[in-house]
Amino acid sequence: MTMTTTPDQTPATEQTFESFGLDPRILRALTDQGYTKPTPIQAQAIPVVLLGKDVMGAAQTGTGKTAGFALPIIQRLLPLSNASASPARHPVRALMLTPTRELADQVYDNVARYAQHTDLRSTVVFGGVDMNPQTEALRRGVEILVATPGRLLDHVQQKSVNLSQVQMLVLDEADRMLDMGFLPDLQRIINLLPAQRQTLLFSATFSPEIKKLASSYLKQPVTIEVARSNSTNENVRQIVYPVQDGHKQAAVVHLLKQRADAQQSKQCIVFVNSKIGCSRLARHLEREGINAAAIHGDKTQTERMQTLEGFKTGTIDALVATDVAARGLDIPAMPCVINFDLPFSAEDYVHRIGRTGRAGASGDALSIYVPGSDDRLLADIEKLIKRAVPRGTLDGFDPTGERARQEESDRRRQRTETRRPRENGATEEESTTRRRRTEPNGRQAFRPSDDPFFSRPYEPSGNYTPAPKTEDELAAALTRGRQAPKRPVAALLGGVPRKS
Ligand code: AMP
Repeated sequence: MTMTTTPDQTPATEQTFESFGLDPRILRALTDQGYTKPTPIQAQAIPVVLLGKDVMGAAQTGTGKTAGFALPIIQRLLPLSNASASPARHPVRALMLTPTRELADQVYDNVARYAQHTDLRSTVVFGGVDMNPQTEALRRGVEILVATPGRLLDHVQQKSVNLSQVQMLVLDEADRMLDMGFLPDLQRIINLLPAQRQTLLFSATFSPEIKKLASSYLKQPVTIEVARSNSTNENVRQIVYPVQDGHKQAAVVHLLKQRADAQQSKQCIVFVNSKIGCSRLARHLEREGINAAAIHGDKTQTERMQTLEGFKTGTIDALVATDVAARGLDIPAMPCVINFDLPFSAEDYVHRIGRTGRAGASGDALSIYVPGSDDRLLADIEKLIKRAVPRGTLDGFDPTGERARQEESDRRRQRTETRRPRENGATEEESTTRRRRTEPNGRQAFRPSDDPFFSRPYEPSGNYTPAPKTEDELAAALTRGRQAPKRPVAALLGGVPRKS
């Protein structure tokens, strides 16, 4: 039987961690973490998992789903915890599978914190790093193992781990595991587990493939949905900016600088579809004076960890990432996500923007969109999230420098004009505005009467003789005219006049 639980049926606000009957050692760890009350997914999942039921959870990243499954698992394993040094007393009892190394590391980090006051042991194994330390940790014995599928199978092959006593299996971000082609690995792993077990599947979306996986491996699961599947977080302000192809890098620089100018947090994840595009954009941002770093599948594990650390400590402002690399990154209160490329799969859009607006904080999800070539991708996204994403305009965006050139030319013209005298009674600004009046056809009109030079009152030169106003003045003027020394023709032709 499938039962659907929604937040409306059990208001999360009325729940406390104590009300679930969690052990004081777990409650102490939660106090250490500063958690005061369960998130909606925790309020829904914890009681169901404590009852031993299978769960199919539709939970977005950042909802607190890790504690939603980890806390009840720790609680259920506590009666079996012991301080014995013997590895045989610490078999793997709970297995948590995740698609990426970063998510595995994060889930492990959470589990270790929640179990820190208990005798339960936990470890994590993922690819891209030396297997030996992992092998040693597994041989010492752990009750809770967090793993990526490929590396776990390597350990199974090396016989450094035995999965025959696993009672609880978690498939975290199961949709992503399927996207990444882990289905055969998952099947091999699940075949190594006892049939009698509790299985919890978490996914941001419930695609038909996920439903098929659930029907194969889950028994009468309780479906828990804290938000409509495929929905996006209400706290996230989503905008798409139409930008011409070829100007996308400039648009990202513009958005990041605009945020910095507006004193908004500079921290941002920028999503790019390809690894090459990812490195290229990170280099471009660096050239533009933005602290940026790329994180993608071709980076070594050490590089990825260093980049992530730099981002968390604030030495990197823009983390330029591909979907796979960014999967599961837990950066609290991520203020902004930018889609440099719209994702090929609309579900990735939901995952990407799930990086922001976490735990009730607000966030911005800004996407660059090339009208024409991106129309179908945008339509798919809007269909999936069941709403239109508002279109925005990039105020002051000047990808080709055309606007800057125009402004410089305006400034030059204004400098020239300020050297001229002003119109009577008009400020310089007013005269300039008048000169810039436009005609109905949109072209700028130039009217001599608007220019102070043309409307300036005539100023007499020093040689000026006022016009005669009386008979006498007229007679005198005529006499002066007759008496005016005649210039010799030679002088007019350039010769030197002879003195008489
Ligand atoms: P998750 O969705 O499991 O990746 O969790 C997202 C973030 O929420 C993590 O940083 C958790 O530490 C944090 N978190 C989980 N549960 C709670 C809670 N009850 N109260 C406050 N923060 C929480």
